[in-house]
Order: sequence, then C-alpha cells, then structure tokens
Amino acid sequence: MLKLDFHPAGRHFLQIPGPSPVPDRILRAMSYPTIDHRGPEFGELGLKVLDGIKKIFKTQQPVVIYPASGTGAWEAALSNTLSPGDAVLMYETGHFATLWKKMAENLGLKPEFLGLPGIEGWRRGVQPQMIEERLRADTQHTIKAVCVVHNETSTGVTSDIAAVRHAIDAAGHPALLLVDTISGLACADYRHDEWGVDVTVSGSQKGLMLPPGISFNAISPKAMAASKHAKLPRSFWDWTEIVEMNKTGYWPYTPNTNLLYGLSEALEMILGEGLDNVFARHERLAEATRRAVRAWGLEIQCADPAVYSPVLTGVVMPDGVDADAVRKLIYERFDMSLGTGLGKLKGRMFRIGHLGDCNDLMLLATLAGCEMGLRLAGVSLKESGLPAAMEWLSQPTKASGLKAAA
Ligand code: PLP
Repeated sequence: MLKLDFHPAGRHFLQIPGPSPVPDRILRAMSYPTIDHRGPEFGELGLKVLDGIKKIFKTQQPVVIYPASGTGAWEAALSNTLSPGDAVLMYETGHFATLWKKMAENLGLKPEFLGLPGIEGWRRGVQPQMIEERLRADTQHTIKAVCVVHNETSTGVTSDIAAVRHAIDAAGHPALLLVDTISGLACADYRHDEWGVDVTVSGSQKGLMLPPGISFNAISPKAMAASKHAKLPRSFWDWTEIVEMNKTGYWPYTPNTNLLYGLSEALEMILGEGLDNVFARHERLAEATRRAVRAWGLEIQCADPAVYSPVLTGVVMPDGVDADAVRKLIYERFDMSLGTGLGKLKGRMFRIGHLGDCNDLMLLATLAGCEMGLRLAGVSLKESGLPAAMEWLSQPTKASGLKAAA
C-alpha cells in the first residue's frame, strides 16, 4: 500500500502471481506525455505494438488490444464467437477456470464443467482424453467451443494446449478452442498458430511486466469467421471495427496510450532477452522455488511434475496452519506480498509468484522472507530451503537473465 506519511526502507517485494513488479524502464516509458491518439505519432506506436505482440503470441493473425483487465478479454472471446444458449465445454483447473465458467453462464451460454473430482482437479492440468471422450459423444456437434486455462494462476498448474487441440481433432469435432493464458504469456512457451488455438486471451500485468489495464485476444481465421454469425450482444468488445482500424495503427475509441508506451518497452525487453531465454529463466526460478519448498518439507499444490507452472508455486500449509495468517505476518514483518489461496484453496495454501522481472537474488530474498515468516508463524520446517535453492541457482546457466552469465 502506498503510505504517504511513512516510507518503509527498501523496496516492497511484490511476489504475487500478478500484477508482477514493473521494471523502472517500463515505468519511465509510461511517464512520457500522453499524445493525440488520432495523430501520426500514435499510428506508428500502434503499428509497432500490434506487430510486436504477435511475436509473443507466436501468431501471424490479428491480436486485439483492449483497454481492460483480463476479465474483459474473457468476455470478448466468448461474446465474439458464440450465440445465446450455445453449449460450451469448459475444464475445471481452479479458481480462474471457475470464474470464466460463471461468466459464460452470466452471458447466457450453457457451460458444461469437466474435471477431476474434488480438489484433485486443482492439482493437475487438463486431461485431454476427457475432452476427447466428451466431444466424441457429442455426435450432433452441439458443443460450440472448448475453453481451457493454460496457466491456472490459483494453483500453479499448467495445461498442455497442443494436447487439447489434438483431442479435439481426434474426436473430429468442429468446436472452437478458446484458451486463457493471462498468466502464462511471456513466461511459458505459447504457440497460438501452431497449437491451432482459435482465441487466446491474455493480460498485461503478468509476464509482460506491465501494470494491469490492457488485455488481448489473438484471433484465428476460424474464430473471425465465427464472429460473423455469433449472436451474443456485444459492442465495445466487437472485433470487426477494431481489427479494421488497427490496420493503420489506430482504434475506434481512445486506447490506453501510456500503457501502450509501456507495452512497446516491454516488447523490446522481452524480445531483446529472447523468448526462449525468458522461458528458461522462469523455469529455472520455478525449480529453485520447488527445491526450497521440498527442503522445508512442505507440499507443492501441483501434483504432476510434468505440468509445474514456471510462473508461480502453490505452497500447501500443514493441517491447522492458516495460510493467510502466514501471509499477513510476512507482509507486516518483511514488506512482502504473497498470493492468497483462492476459492477451494482459501487458507490452505499461499502462492509465490516468480514471474516477469525477477532474477536469482530477488527470488532468494523472496524465499528467505517466506522461510523466516513460516518459522515466525510456528510452522515446523524440515530444514532451510535456501541452500537447496542456492545450489540450484549457482549452477552454470545461460538462463539467469544476465547477458554475461556463464
Ligand atoms: N484468468 C487468469 C488465469 C488470471 O490469472 C486472471 C487474473 O489474475 C484472470 C483470468 C482475470 O484477469 P483480470 O484480473 O486481469 O481481470
């Protein structure tokens, strides 16, 4: 919180899984004066970010940028492609998948929620064979879209999107594939075109290292064709006019100019580091975190190592320990914010974000803050997690995010 009468020494540690810390370079870029969004300078900026963002989604197709949080882009994906009463197959990976389903209901769609029973589904990724079986049974093709979350931010579990595509194809089903990678983009590999995704939804405040406030729809030709017949009411979210005006770098309404300055800077930073290096850096920090958690003797929320999230790690508390009380203590004592347990996991676990502008020493300080806080909260730990994390991080690597790294 911004305390105007008191400034704690040093920097706050914002280790929630988004919004992630905004690098100074991006903050400075956003401080440039706001310009005329119909003037020539703006057109250049518009074209630059609209082109650059395609490289992050790995697509040649249009990517629409909304001045809205990720929730807006969720609504845009549904309302542009579907009609009232359409059946939609959604998969329960956690809290955010549940919220997207609730939105589908609110919009007048008929979502069906697939998933593993109880909390098990919140510990594993999407099971593509369940999607394939359900689609095979839908011989009338009443299901119009399959919706999945690529990186479930409430649990720290990813899902194999290529395998979901494969499942839809194996069932010979024409449903659209809509994917939320709000927290996965620019942290984990993502391939909109290659994986045959029809609409990819993302947001600014995670891997892109920007403040909240802009969000995205990457749109396949099949999704664009579906939008011509989709009957859900929409106006602000409608792709047609936006995509048309974006061709010259402009928007049909007032875009989020200063956030677009920030996006331009973020693209330079991410593409300058190289996407593969960015992904490797995230994987490396995530592995260091898991090694520390294991050394503590605590459980990781994700139960399947094949789908560990490179973005965040969910740390399950022993029975009887309130995760939110531990978080509160860490916040008050060490000025560090950790992610709360959401939905079914409220009070059961906290989430360590290690995404975006994060390096080895920032992560080690984060883990030290967690460890000291856990001890202060009376949680008995098997051993310190720091040596395990340090040993992992001091191995030779090219993925530290530093140019000169060995
Ligand atoms: N989907 C996922 C996976 C998220 O992590 C979030 C936010 O954290 C959302 C959707 C909602 O996005 P927003 O809060 O930007 O509206």
